[in-house]
Amino acid sequence: MKWNNLKPDIAAIDLNSRISKHISAIDKINLISSTQNCPLIIIPQHIKKKIILHLSTKKVELGGLLIGSVISTNDLTQGIVAIEIKEAVASNNFESSAVSLTMSSDIWQDANKISTDTTFVVGWYHSHPDLGAFFSGTDRKTQKDFFHSAYSLGLVIDPIRHEEKWFLGANSNEVKSNKIRSNFKYGLAVV
Ligand SMILES: [Zn+2]
Repeated sequence: MKWNNLKPDIAAIDLNSRISKHISAIDKINLISSTQNCPLIIIPQHIKKKIILHLSTKKVELGGLLIGSVISTNDLTQGIVAIEIKEAVASNNFESSAVSLTMSSDIWQDANKISTDTTFVVGWYHSHPDLGAFFSGTDRKTQKDFFHSAYSLGLVIDPIRHEEKWFLGANSNEVKSNKIRSNFKYGLAVV
């Protein structure tokens, strides 16, 4: 499968374009100041449920792709305020090793079908059944090799222990749980 099969013309959604419609100017100031070190991760409850359902189907490592938008005051590398997940695409087969990441070959087709210039692959998710939610050395390498953009997310879920952890960027920086929104607190996800 080709991991470089991304559309070349992807772009961030300008935060200012969301101001009048969805968030007030005061919310904007709060949002920018609160996301200086790490952007907000916004995931609708129904997509979270869909991911957990998929990962709960088998007691083996499963995974897929996260599709979403990047809301930024600048571009896809700087000024990122929020990463808004809009869809999750499950892979029929999933194998992650120190040298490769294997997902079913049609997963990029599925991802591309729902992608636009502002909605695209923003990361990946996978399960650690009864191992706990953490990023292994292999996971960090996968993140660095394939999901190394400033907005690239890595979500790991242990569906048995009910644990989850999020990581961001090429260096797999852990995203603190207070940066995860699944209830549209800022209204950014309402389109
Ligand atoms: Zn892992």
